[in-house]
Amino acid sequence: MLDVIIIGAGMAGITAARELTRAKYSVQVLEARDRIGGRIMTVEDFVDGPVEGGAEFVHGRKAATMKEVDAAGLSLRGSPQMRRTAFNMGGATRWLPISCLHPGAWACAGMRNKIINTEPPDLSARDFMDKHGYKGRGRQLTEMTLLQHLPGSADDVGVLGWIDDGVMDLQNRYNHRIVTGYSSLPSSMAKGLDIRLNTIVEAVQWTAQKVRIQLQDGETLEARTVISTLPVGVLKANSVRFEPELPESKQWALSQLEMGPITKILMHFKQQFWPKWMEMAASATGPVNLYWTVFRNMKDRPAALTGYCIGPRSAALSQNSDNKATEIVMDDLKRMYPGSDPHGALADIRFVKWGQDPFAVGGYTYVRPGGRGAREKLKAMDTGALFWAGSGTESQPVSELVETAYLSGLRTAREVSTCLGPV
Ligand SMILES: Cc1cc2nc3c(=O)[nH]c(=O)nc-3n(C[C@H](O)[C@H](O)[C@H](O)COP(=O)(O)OP(=O)(O)OC[C@H]3O[C@@H](n4cnc5c(N)ncnc54)[C@H](O)[C@@H]3O)c2cc1C
Repeated sequence: MLDVIIIGAGMAGITAARELTRAKYSVQVLEARDRIGGRIMTVEDFVDGPVEGGAEFVHGRKAATMKEVDAAGLSLRGSPQMRRTAFNMGGATRWLPISCLHPGAWACAGMRNKIINTEPPDLSARDFMDKHGYKGRGRQLTEMTLLQHLPGSADDVGVLGWIDDGVMDLQNRYNHRIVTGYSSLPSSMAKGLDIRLNTIVEAVQWTAQKVRIQLQDGETLEARTVISTLPVGVLKANSVRFEPELPESKQWALSQLEMGPITKILMHFKQQFWPKWMEMAASATGPVNLYWTVFRNMKDRPAALTGYCIGPRSAALSQNSDNKATEIVMDDLKRMYPGSDPHGALADIRFVKWGQDPFAVGGYTYVRPGGRGAREKLKAMDTGALFWAGSGTESQPVSELVETAYLSGLRTAREVSTCLGPV
């Protein structure tokens, strides 16, 4: 019997597998897709140069994964988003500090302090804005601060979960891209691991002593321990059966974590129509939350933009056919940059819809109002020989990042080796 089976070859699964394999346990990773990396997915066949369909940034030199990036010998390219961000609050698209010179914005001065000093009972983002009387531009800026990163609506996102999940920390970090594409990182870490691709887990029968896995093709496997790295969206969709059912505390955790949809829009243009200095443009009102340049100032690379469309805006855009959605996005870019001709300049477009992906069922999670502590309950060791990893199981230092998945992999590797004892 194997010592450990790991479900999922994303960053959490690969990290746990590598640690446990190094410790000489017998380990097999089961992965539903025909590739490793999970929500890290570099697209190589879109333009001349790597474009990210999933995770894009390593968030700062202090990111826990930085030592793996260095160990793999991967080069980074900085993305100076704070200095080079434009905002569109409904009118013209302007450099961020200019948008903040508006008197309406002064009304929300100190807003970030008010957010982090919120005490229980929890508030939704909307109740928070109402409580502090934010209106007009101040309200738009507050809403962007609370919801720009989380794929939920103002009614669904809880402020205490926002604080616990370290979103403020994330907003203060300087982002980097891996020059050869994000997928280079899991590929490098997975060398030598026993990973079975195209292997869909259908059921997990767990006890205190061992776990039996049933695959979609009817095969069953047994191991002394199993680590699930299934994304919260997959767990909530009940596409994997647990026998016996998961304890009530885990079911509560899953009811308090919401996996919101995210659509990434990869765009290749014949020529650039956005300002040369721009790295990112955030939009308070349009159909797409953020646009960013992929290869700013790189002369040998194509004019490419990525659209980041999350939560309710992603759900709304996904209602349309790709042709209609393309029209909507090009109209939006024309609104952002009056006088430009995005329709005419478009060479190619691709939509990556994580909400419709059966092995993610969403982009990543946020905590509902009143759901404080849900991630701790999700990762708790209360299911015998079945252990819990994945970026949704950690809130520190920032939930739902590649580095959080990595840290969860390290944690479960420690938990499992304590359970199994010396080899
Ligand atoms: C659009 C987008 C942009 C993002 N941007 C960033 C970013 O810039 N920086 C950052 O740090 N993070 C970012 N993230 C978050 C980051 O990608 C994830 O938090 C992280 O990659 C999750 O790793 P994981 O191993 O926990 O889960 P996953 O990567 O989802 O891995 C889980 C694995 O389980 C597999 N699986 C699912 N069901 C089954 C089954 N039934 N049987 C077998 N296998 C199964 C899946 O195929 C998958 O490979 C982004 C995410 C998205 C979606």
